[in-house]
Amino acid sequence: MKPVVKKATPAAIAVLRQATALRPNRKKASDGLLPSAAHLKQSPNSDHNTGFGVDLTHDPKNDIDGRAFFEKLKDDKRVKYLIFSGKIWSEEQGERNYTGINKHEHHLHISIEDKSGNDTSPWFPWLGTASTVNKVKAAVKPLPKKKETK
Ligand SMILES: [Zn+2]
Repeated sequence: MKPVVKKATPAAIAVLRQATALRPNRKKASDGLLPSAAHLKQSPNSDHNTGFGVDLTHDPKNDIDGRAFFEKLKDDKRVKYLIFSGKIWSEEQGERNYTGINKHEHHLHISIEDKSGNDTSPWFPWLGTASTVNKVKAAVKPLPKKKETK
């Protein structure tokens, strides 16, 4: 089992904060950073344990489109691998079918490279820039509860 950290990496937290600052009305039901006990049992070696994994809720009505982001984030050098809707992608292995229990229909999973944990540069440049007010509001929003298995 990978040990569980107390706080997710700045880069992982930035994914959720930046998305919220850019699209304040986005849905957050499937957001996730650190694992719950149930998640830990099901996926003992998840990148959520180390704070390098983050789940972003799929909400295409508010421009947070898991499928589109899956494609765009392939170009981000901070990404170790991505999972969405039955597909997994990594730089080394390319795209293939994801055969895990959870197909990831409701959120995009992003695993971040070890060297990029402190890199909080913009994750979603295609969404434009957030207003200062929205950035401040997003910064004080509570982080998601422990990641459940679904
Ligand atoms: Zn995840």
